[in-house]
Amino acid sequence: MSSNQTSDRFDRPLRDLRVSVTDRCNFRCVYCMPKETFDKNYRFLPRSELLSFEEIERVVQAAAELGVTKVRLTGGEPLVRRDLETLITQVRDVPGITDVSMTTNASLLTRARARSLRDAGLQRLNVSLDAMDDETFMRVNDVDVTVQTVLDGIENAAQVDFDSIKVNMVVKKGLNDHSILPMARFFHGTGQILRFIEFMDVGNSNAWDLSHVTTSGEIADIINAELPIRPAEANYRGEVAKRWEYQDGGGEIGIISSVSEPFCGDCSRARLSATGSIYTCLFASSGHDLRPALREGDTDTVREKLRKLWSVRADRYSETRTQTSVIHIRPKVEMSFIGG
Ligand code: SAM
Ligand code: SF4
Ligand code: SF4
Repeated sequence: MSSNQTSDRFDRPLRDLRVSVTDRCNFRCVYCMPKETFDKNYRFLPRSELLSFEEIERVVQAAAELGVTKVRLTGGEPLVRRDLETLITQVRDVPGITDVSMTTNASLLTRARARSLRDAGLQRLNVSLDAMDDETFMRVNDVDVTVQTVLDGIENAAQVDFDSIKVNMVVKKGLNDHSILPMARFFHGTGQILRFIEFMDVGNSNAWDLSHVTTSGEIADIINAELPIRPAEANYRGEVAKRWEYQDGGGEIGIISSVSEPFCGDCSRARLSATGSIYTCLFASSGHDLRPALREGDTDTVREKLRKLWSVRADRYSETRTQTSVIHIRPKVEMSFIGG
């Protein structure tokens, strides 16, 4: 470890930075930006309040000096932020950053856009897709986008050779759990890794309840009954998805058990909101505003502020959520604001 690297109170290093580039999205997923809250009266951030690309770049530089190697762009929907390619190149060129990825709903991912993102330096892509049939998928996205639109986006990405394309499915019981097998069947053998994510109690507007969670064990059982799987070794310490491989050689899947088997012990991730606040946990009630440091100081000032925040970090929300008093009382930041 170089002397500049930093660890929190539980000795967890800072390794990953998720950057939310916008709070806006062209979807209204019922578990993330339900229309009742995110309607025409909802006040999205004015452009003037978003961090500029130069400011994001400086936060990434400061984070890289503290040991961050991986940056993931997210949102809202990152593809609605204009000139995203410029930011991707700026981030890729920061010394120490070795991995630049993005999470997207892929509805705007034309072939030309996929190519320009790749050329700009984007290495890996995670695409969210929650069902294989339009009826269910439209019930989830609530804006009538078809499954084929997203599959076209995935195909466009596949044509330009990203280092990896993963497909993420959030499973909410009663909403799309019947799509687990159709999704597994579709991506089996394609080389695209499907990952199932337990529905989480992020934000305050998705009416989360433990009974809506299909657990990782249940998901594995459903798949195993038709497409036998066996556990596979983790790629690296702290990998959030537990890996399973198909016994017939059809590739692998991942299951992210943020609710039933939390992984706070290895959590090395900080999140930067579109307005420049750092959140040290997905479930934090408030962030720490980096804008004063960005506007009044140099990158060293930002780095020292970040180091200070990280050194006192003691978050482990998922490991404590079943102490029910914690769940409902605290307000939490919305997922569309800090990007999952
Ligand atoms: N709009 C992009 C997308 O959907 O891929 C990026 C932002 S979105 C907030 C990032 C990820 O968070 C998506 O895969 C989404 O499915 C997931 N997500 C949103 N709300 C969630 C929840 N309550 N539980 C689990 N995952 C959630
Ligand atoms: Fe938009 Fe992604 Fe949230 Fe869906 S999950 S509403 S696509 S930000
Ligand atoms: Fe990390 Fe917070 Fe999630 Fe735990 S609950 S894994 S500390 S983001």
